[in-house]
Amino acid sequence: MKLTNIKITLCGEGGVGKTSLATMFTEGIFKRDMKLTVGIQHFTKVIDLGNAKVNLVIWDLGGEHRFRFLAPLFLRGAKGAIFVFDITRDETFAKIDEWLDISRKILGNFPAILVGNKLDLEEFRLVPKDIAINYAKRRGFIAYYETSAKLNINVHAPFIHLARAIVGDIYAQDIKDFLP
Ligand code: GDP
Ligand code: MG
Repeated sequence: MKLTNIKITLCGEGGVGKTSLATMFTEGIFKRDMKLTVGIQHFTKVIDLGNAKVNLVIWDLGGEHRFRFLAPLFLRGAKGAIFVFDITRDETFAKIDEWLDISRKILGNFPAILVGNKLDLEEFRLVPKDIAINYAKRRGFIAYYETSAKLNINVHAPFIHLARAIVGDIYAQDIKDFLP
């Protein structure tokens, strides 16, 4: 079976856990001493969706503002995106809108998933779950997940959900291409 490469991006402010989520998803480990992402980093994982096997290529961008100039390169060619905030830092939730706007400007319409990370720090939560869910619905996200990269809670679900949505779109596109 042909292995299709699918590029997806991880968007969100620095320190929300993007690299930790990607590392847990692709390598199954949580690195306590995670280094600040410098520029763009890539992770890959082959996933079996039953009807399709895809190589998910996850692009991760350093959260610091000085890397923002890389955003167009970072986003170009992506078939979908996961937007991550930290449930204990509400400013990271507020910034999702900016990331979404930049992304839509470059990619147009694409499947996007919202993730509230650091669920293990529930007692320090500042972003209520229903607020996040309503926001996700209003802004056209296809799903909202709460995760903990640290405790490996729900980490696979958003990646698999996004991959399924993208593959569904690609199939729809293939079928359309065959129509006269
Ligand atoms: P990024 O800048 O978005 O890539 O975030 P990192 O993956 O580098 O994580 C930033 C910090 O948050 C690091 O100290 C991580 O160990 C920590 N971190 C990441 N995910 C979690 C999580 O689910 N729970 C907790 N408690 N800490 C996390
Ligand atoms: Mg990082």
